Amino acid sequence: MKPLFTILKGGRRYTPDDAGVGDVVLAAGVITSLADNVLPDPSYGEVEVVDVKDKYVVPGFIDQHVHLLGGGGEGGYATRTPEVMLSHLTRAGITTVVGCLGTDGTTRHVASLLAKARALELEGISTYIYTGAYEVPAPTITESVRDDLIIIDKVIGCGEVAIADHRSAQPSIEDIRKLAAQSRVGGLLSNKAGVLHLHVGNNPQGIGMLLELIAEQEIPVTQFTPTHMNRNQQLLDQGIRFAALGGMIDFTTSVNLSESNVARVKAAKAVSYCLEQGVDLSHITMSSDGNGSLPVFDEQGDTIGFMVGEPMSLYREWRDLVLEEQLELSQSLKVITGNPSRTLKLFPRKGTLKVGADADIVVLNQDLEIEYVFARGYCMVRQGQVVVKGVFE
Ligand code: ZN
Repeated sequence: MKPLFTILKGGRRYTPDDAGVGDVVLAAGVITSLADNVLPDPSYGEVEVVDVKDKYVVPGFIDQHVHLLGGGGEGGYATRTPEVMLSHLTRAGITTVVGCLGTDGTTRHVASLLAKARALELEGISTYIYTGAYEVPAPTITESVRDDLIIIDKVIGCGEVAIADHRSAQPSIEDIRKLAAQSRVGGLLSNKAGVLHLHVGNNPQGIGMLLELIAEQEIPVTQFTPTHMNRNQQLLDQGIRFAALGGMIDFTTSVNLSESNVARVKAAKAVSYCLEQGVDLSHITMSSDGNGSLPVFDEQGDTIGFMVGEPMSLYREWRDLVLEEQLELSQSLKVITGNPSRTLKLFPRKGTLKVGADADIVVLNQDLEIEYVFARGYCMVRQGQVVVKGVFE
């Protein structure tokens, strides 16, 4: 069908650190060489050579928060958002995705999320899921967060569990402590990250509970990956304290521009602000909240409008890090490649260009437009066009 042996020739490689100009060889789904000049040999079988001179060759993007099954429903059944299609992810350069449930853990289930993740994996990208949803106790497949982590290959953490939000189950600190403990032990026994991925809402308490838990020094700070930390300035400042304690903070790139959400800090601006405040870049990630619902509430908490999160926002916000916030390319890439890969314990298979790593690669032109996307060695986007579509696209 397609050659499984590809040479990307003469591009500027970022691992995400700048590795200079040279070739990248993709064979049987992994990177097999980063030599400066690789010549195809007829004995290799069919080899595709792609000229990527003057282009950037970078690791495929990792999106650690996508509502693969859709989400929402805060305005009733008709407002449940649609499922993700393969090309919505690949055209945004996303080659690894972590799926989650959200507000609705009643009509959407972890088992169907697992099935959707498996479907996307069969269609070509790499997928993982969090067990659980907004509510506590967390809905699971085996009736235990810990057992889901240990038994189910794709489960790499628990989330997105809501705190500080009127849509949460109002979990107590004890609830969160227990969930973190289950995630931690499940992660240890399965050699996975076992993160507790927390949706943080608008309540001024923010991540106060996490800061309390960390102070107890029992559960490591790295067990928690709070998201939506750019929801407002106050939460962002709290996140800076959390990062100073060694925590990872995640910024959401899908932005609800409605009036009631004007407090939100644009993700790229939030990254810049954190760096100015002395946060180490290695503590920052971005994710899209793709296909999640972005309901707009009035002052009484009534739903007055809807938007849907877009996976493409991850790419756009990353590009703004370079073009608007003037971050170096290698630094900006870490936020959506190396950092989430380490947090989710997918390194060194994901989030890097390295011999032996999965051949998940994005090729960008000088304007940072996506020209090629390879997922486990297969070309998904070619010259800016989606060439592999999902079964129902
Ligand atoms: Zn959320």
